[in-house]
Amino acid sequence: MSNWEAVIGLEVHCQLRTQSKIFTGAATAYGAEPNTQADPVTLGLPGVLPVLNREALQMAVKFGLAIGAKVAERSVFARKHYFYPDLPKGYQISQYELPIVAEGHLDIEIPGPKGEEPTLKRIGITRAHMEEDAGKSLHEAFPGVTGIDLNRAGTPLIEIVSEPDIRSAAEAVAYLKKLHQLVVYIGICDGNMQEGSFRCDANVSVRRKGEAKFGTRTETKNVNSFRYVEKAIEYEIERQIEVIEAGGKIVQETRLFNPDTGETRAMRSKEDANDYRYFPDPDLLPVVVTAADMEAIRATLPELPEAKRHRFVTQYALPKYDAAVLTGESALADYFEAVVETSGADAKTCANWITTDLLGALNKLGKDITASPISVEMLAGMLKRIVDKTISGKIAKDVFEAMLAGEGDADAIIKAKGLVQITDDGAIISAIDKVMAANPGQLADYRSGKDKLFGFFVGQVMKATQGKANPDALNRLLKEKLAP
Ligand code: ADP
Ligand code: MG
Repeated sequence: MSNWEAVIGLEVHCQLRTQSKIFTGAATAYGAEPNTQADPVTLGLPGVLPVLNREALQMAVKFGLAIGAKVAERSVFARKHYFYPDLPKGYQISQYELPIVAEGHLDIEIPGPKGEEPTLKRIGITRAHMEEDAGKSLHEAFPGVTGIDLNRAGTPLIEIVSEPDIRSAAEAVAYLKKLHQLVVYIGICDGNMQEGSFRCDANVSVRRKGEAKFGTRTETKNVNSFRYVEKAIEYEIERQIEVIEAGGKIVQETRLFNPDTGETRAMRSKEDANDYRYFPDPDLLPVVVTAADMEAIRATLPELPEAKRHRFVTQYALPKYDAAVLTGESALADYFEAVVETSGADAKTCANWITTDLLGALNKLGKDITASPISVEMLAGMLKRIVDKTISGKIAKDVFEAMLAGEGDADAIIKAKGLVQITDDGAIISAIDKVMAANPGQLADYRSGKDKLFGFFVGQVMKATQGKANPDALNRLLKEKLAP
């Protein structure tokens, strides 16, 4: 491998999150009874005409703006012809020569050597065009025959084509994750990879290091998880190197990844563009996006993930890592900001509770932040009690668990369980006195220089007060009392 270099370009099909299809009002919802969302336009019956879904167009434009691309003032739908049972018209409506989006980019982070900052690498996005999805062929549902479900046919997609700028499987995954995060953030895709809302084809070739020309590429289709993309690319790189080193040649072809074996195998030789007999679709007008349209759509763009991450570092003085975790999803970032604002606790404390305790709990429950059993109000309510010293951070862990178990909000739990911390010096001193009287041996040892026993006394007093002694007060008073 060491004297070889991989060259990778990715094509991502991203389902747009519209209610209805790209050229008709039929629903796009996933999982409906087969063929219940296949109206005459979807079926391609004679006499029907496609009408562009305005929302699909707006989403495509939104994407173009989010990747700093050129959004075409005029783009054109084209027919891409091929025969397949799940494509009733015999052609797919796509865009070819004049796509809606061209020349954008996405920056990915390449981890630096340990302890060093990651470096940014810019991956070019050649184009993104609008098109309709095909239906689904169901090969396993009926023995000996193939079932066709046309519900998905006509679902709006954007196909996002990267430049061959990617040089390893890890970079490919970093790019895909970044892209996935972005389309979910700007609300144009639900990002559900199991349901096929975000699918990737990986173009891979290899060349000897220093070689200027690209090698012949293969295209591995529909690898629909980040891990599979990584495995498929790694396998394909190895395979191509072996073929060439053994004196063979790579053939340009489409391959299929088998997740069970981790291998790719040849599916068909690759069509060239002219095999598809592309031509402008006479049923559809050119798509015109005016400068005013563009500005109106730009105004709907939310703060993008990178900008949010930078802001979290500067505005809240958070470590980069915390900022990255919290801005991973916009709903999570919103949750964090609401907790900071309403709790009065410092941002880093809020970040710690959210990134460790809350995300840990949600992960165990298999739940998303939007379905969190602990609301913003509940977490903020608990943090307020830490801030006003009603409870210690340690007791708060118990309160948190109780909130998670559905025992109510922090105040109710603190009251029901009698968790209010003891801040009264007198009460703490009397507990210290009892512990000292009960442990004369340890006391003598401590006073003769065994400093380590301090922790023992802290533990004993905490035990005697059911963990409720205020830690700062306890430390201070214990030092005074234990002093020889
Ligand atoms: P097609 O439509 O036939 O798939 P494109 O020209 O649109 O062809 O390219 C598809 C993808 O293949 C792009 O992401 C591009 O970056 C990538 N690509 C092109 N040439 C190579 C190559 N030699 N090695 C790896 N990837 C490549
Ligand atoms: Mg392709």
